Amino acid sequence: MNQKYDVVIIGAGAAGLMSAIEAGKRGRSVLLVDHSKKIGEKIRISGGGRCNFTNLYTNPSKFISQNPNFMISALNQYTQYDFIELIKKYQIKFHEKKLGQLFCDESAQQIIDMLLLECKKSEVTLKKETHVLDISKKDNSYITNIGSEIIFSNSLIIATGGLSIPKMGATKFGYDIAKKFDMKLVETEPALVPLTFSDKFLLKCKELTGLSLDSIISLNKNSFKEGMLFTHRGLSGPSILQISSYWKLGNEIKINLSPNFDIYQFLINKKETNPKQDITTLIAEVIPKRLSISICRDQRIGGNISELSNKLLQKLSNSINNWSVSPTGSEGYRTAEVTLGGIDTNELSSKTMMSKKHNGLYFVGEVVDVTGHLGGYNFQWAWSSGYVAGINA
Ligand SMILES: Cc1cc2nc3c(=O)[nH]c(=O)nc-3n(C[C@H](O)[C@H](O)[C@H](O)COP(=O)(O)OP(=O)(O)OC[C@H]3O[C@@H](n4cnc5c(N)ncnc54)[C@H](O)[C@@H]3O)c2cc1C
Repeated sequence: MNQKYDVVIIGAGAAGLMSAIEAGKRGRSVLLVDHSKKIGEKIRISGGGRCNFTNLYTNPSKFISQNPNFMISALNQYTQYDFIELIKKYQIKFHEKKLGQLFCDESAQQIIDMLLLECKKSEVTLKKETHVLDISKKDNSYITNIGSEIIFSNSLIIATGGLSIPKMGATKFGYDIAKKFDMKLVETEPALVPLTFSDKFLLKCKELTGLSLDSIISLNKNSFKEGMLFTHRGLSGPSILQISSYWKLGNEIKINLSPNFDIYQFLINKKETNPKQDITTLIAEVIPKRLSISICRDQRIGGNISELSNKLLQKLSNSINNWSVSPTGSEGYRTAEVTLGGIDTNELSSKTMMSKKHNGLYFVGEVVDVTGHLGGYNFQWAWSSGYVAGINA
């Protein structure tokens, strides 16, 4: 059976839903297709079930892309305040957790329900559990084959997301379509992902599993001050997830386990004022006790501080304020929150998200080579890019 819509959207995640709502508002007939049984699964599980839906401080510096200016237009056309307005219209209560990160007070499901209701108001036709068998183009029409129907449309929006969490329905569909239409891709990699280690350092992580503390993690010019967590595979927590987006195999990362304290200065002062104090106990005043014991043991340092040379204290301080570690990998797409890389932004108009080569073909959301830092930026990119395609398709 043949069908005709103005706009077909593949992928009913954050970006696809937003595109559908906006295109529908303009009176366009919209078909939104997803292969999953449940809509908006990533929204549902995000932010620990409360969805960190945007960030008050959204700006281009919070995104990674081969073109660091590409996201500016979309972020300006649909800002964090526009999404906040929508949330307020639906009386969804929210709060700032920290660093401008906005979360629902109650549940991420409220955002999904809101988006689905908006789709309904915009008279969007939603087809769940629908597999796209083929996409082609003839004259000025895109032809989407879903087996039971062949759908013709003037516009086609690809919103199939990245590769992270395959068990939640992530596929390489968007990248395959881009290749089919002769568009370039930037190599993809898991990002916002825990880092893994081997050998001696892995044993340390296992020993300290469950321990979390505030830290500054740095790699080249990038540095993040947030929580860090030891796990039985390596290191995780917000600061590690952030740096993982910049980390490449072979890179060493620096960890400051005591961001608010110059440990050397602290120890020198203590040596004068409290010479009989045990070094492990002293260090435990500024970092968790388990970590203090582990570091002093590794450095073979113990006893009263007065018995330790300043050189030894300097070495010990360095291992706390300036610890160098070399990850051997990451947990990969299985646990990564997002995918770096994707559709090369050179292929798209930053004003409309439309392909420069193919009139009517749009790519939005995570499938594009735009990746946000942790903190609500990835959803804001999905809302902004989805909106822009929706008002143009
Ligand atoms: C555990 C976790 C927590 C996160 N928390 C946050 C957070 O709090 N804040 C934040 O900003 N970001 C967060 N993110 C990132 C955020 O979820 C994504 O960046 C965002 O969902 C991307 O939106 P999207 O619409 O581009 O892709 P997706 O949300 O991934 O949607 C893609 C849709 O396409 C469908 N699809 C895929 N392939 C096909 C196909 N072949 N045929 C039909 N349909 C297909 C999928 O089923 C899916 O519904 C989190 C991610 C994860 C994994």
